[in-house]
Amino acid sequence: MEKNIAVLPGDGIGGEVTAEAVKVLDAVADRWGHAFAYQYALVGWAAIDNTGSALPEETVETCKAADAIFFGAVGDPKRDPTLPPAERPEPVALLTLRKGLYANLRPAVIEPDLADLSALRPEAVSSGVDLLIVRELTGGLYYGRPKERRGDAAVDTMAYSVEEVDRIARVGFEAARKRRKKLTSVDKANILACSQLWREVVVEVSKEYPDVELDHMYVDNCAMQLVRNPGQFDTIVTENTFGDILSDEASMLVGSLGMLPSASIGDGSQPAFYEPIHGSAPDIAGLGIANPIAAIRSAAMLLRYSFGLNEEADAVDNAVSSVLREGLRTADIMQSGKRRVSTSEMGDAVVEKIRKG
Ligand code: NAD
Repeated sequence: MEKNIAVLPGDGIGGEVTAEAVKVLDAVADRWGHAFAYQYALVGWAAIDNTGSALPEETVETCKAADAIFFGAVGDPKRDPTLPPAERPEPVALLTLRKGLYANLRPAVIEPDLADLSALRPEAVSSGVDLLIVRELTGGLYYGRPKERRGDAAVDTMAYSVEEVDRIARVGFEAARKRRKKLTSVDKANILACSQLWREVVVEVSKEYPDVELDHMYVDNCAMQLVRNPGQFDTIVTENTFGDILSDEASMLVGSLGMLPSASIGDGSQPAFYEPIHGSAPDIAGLGIANPIAAIRSAAMLLRYSFGLNEEADAVDNAVSSVLREGLRTADIMQSGKRRVSTSEMGDAVVEKIRKG
């Protein structure tokens, strides 16, 4: 397979973790005989300093021409406040590059021997957690109109169409099909008209996925179940606001931002966008201690969701698990008795596993 990947390392640790993800993609290409070409482009402060814009037109063009976009991180808390909010790197880059991508996928995986790093008691996660939240990203309360202040009142609008629910439900079912074939649709159908429509459409779409087990959960119960017994979930599909909150809650289960990948995907008419969920982490930038696993797992998502390379993606995820089982740890996930490694040593260890097969 021959593919072009736009690579936007960005600021701070963005470059460090992106370099490890690219090493891993190269190892996959070598082992399976694929050809991945990388087009590097400037974004964030790195771009402002060179071109005056956080997202230069050249970068946008590079991304449009690519089969997928791999993004590191942008931003510098010392410099960001010198710009008006709408011109800061994070909103400029992310809002533009993710525009039209209506599904945000955020997995949360806890390896059993990392259970004591979780914000939960180890016994709640000791048998491991491997869940995926599929969040609708372009509709609902954040975008509905009217949205305005009316004197001493204010209004926001939650609105969903059948089409919007149908397409995100399909992303949920397809993702569940590639996993353990269980989909939990999260709504508030006892109260909200949007949720009643949501549930109706999800049930309709489920008829095309008889191999996927579907259940429904109210969002308040889901928030509770995520901290009570997160191991019960496989794939969760939900609307924008609920997904925003639940995916942040789920990220705390894992223990370090350095472990959490993400993907934003659409209908295939534009390249999907892959990034670790963490920011540029200026407090540790340049020290060689950032955890590259979030970026490496984002690369695995790119292989799975943009290129359909499931075997290769599994190999990357398994290599990460295996390296962790052998006791390698970056500083953020260090535990007593384990071996502390640098960003590049962690990347090299994952590459070695992939090469050995
Ligand atoms: P952050 O995610 O950069 O860092 C929060 C904490 O987590 C820091 O202590 C950091 O050292 C640690 N951390 C993050 N990633 C890590 C990794 N891979 N390995 C080890 N430790 C890691 O969030 P912040 O400090 O709030 O933001 C810093 C800058 O990043 C800001 O300018 C913000 O706007 C930007 N930001 C960008 C994105 C993005 O590009 N998608 C996302 C969030 C924040």
